[in-house]
Amino acid sequence: MHQIDGKTRVCGLIGNPVEHTLSPMIHNFLADEMGIDLAYVPFEVKEGALGEAILGAYALNVLGLNITVPYKSQVIGCLKGIDPLAKKIGAVNTLVRQDGGYVGYNTDMTGLRRAILSQGMKIKDENVILIGAGGAARAVAFLCMEDGASHVWILNRTLSKAETIAGQLRNAYGKDNVTVLSLSDYDKIPKGKYLALQATSVGLKGKSDMAAIEDDAFYEMIHTGIDLIYNPTNTKFMRLVNSHGGKAYNGLMMLAYQAIDAFELWTGISISDEVTSRMLEMLSEKTAQ
Ligand code: NAP
Repeated sequence: MHQIDGKTRVCGLIGNPVEHTLSPMIHNFLADEMGIDLAYVPFEVKEGALGEAILGAYALNVLGLNITVPYKSQVIGCLKGIDPLAKKIGAVNTLVRQDGGYVGYNTDMTGLRRAILSQGMKIKDENVILIGAGGAARAVAFLCMEDGASHVWILNRTLSKAETIAGQLRNAYGKDNVTVLSLSDYDKIPKGKYLALQATSVGLKGKSDMAAIEDDAFYEMIHTGIDLIYNPTNTKFMRLVNSHGGKAYNGLMMLAYQAIDAFELWTGISISDEVTSRMLEMLSEKTAQ
């Protein structure tokens, strides 16, 4: 890490817990690679202290912040302004310092978009199956609508959570191209080939022998599967997609690009493809440990 001195700018992550985050590694790597005098640190903020933390960060001249679980929605009430897309989604993961306060953005969504495009895929006109209805799935669902998916089927263990997201999408986009199903009801989806986005936490390290849906018949419908999970780098969902002839990707690219989008917003510089590749290499090595 570079020498910290009186001119070093500070960025950080607010969440609870924050011990396992990869964000400090990513942003400090980017700062070193780009020769920018910036240090990124995690801040664990206890329940009830978010407003104070944001005001305190501003008073301490903190340049930018990432926001993670459980504060991505709550933080909206602490901002000076919000990007229209983040407002639509109702979740913010990046704060950018401006005169008088922070402005909120959602780079989870823009990062996933960049990850998808950079791997030669697209959302436009695709029939999409989204597995999951938590915080990450919500950003994916909005991306699908924003980027013109033909139809989105949201499959989730708890149906009411998927219904809430579907209702928000219908309100925001005035379209009725979203269908909600329980995980076992995938056979109600019309025959065809689908882009699947896996946004549940099933398959994370420690439970890597599991997938939210394990039936062969489901995977025969998938031409491409993107698992948002990046640790392990090869999940059971990905193995099932591959073994039925589909292409499979993990969530490392999304993780990388949500960070790159935030770093670019804070510093005003562009991260090159070469630096992105080196960062992905570094992240793959770290997550493999
Ligand atoms: P979350 O809000 O807690 O949502 C968890 C989701 O997983 C819900 O849909 C939940 O279903 C489902 N789920 C959990 N246990 C399940 C089980 N045993 N069977 C079936 N479904 C189950 O979490 P999140 O923040 O959305 O994160 C979800 C995943 O995305 C995590 O693995 C995270 O690592 C990954 N992620 C990746 C990135 C990236 O940059 N690549 C960014 C954000 C998140 P219920 O609604 O029924 O509880």
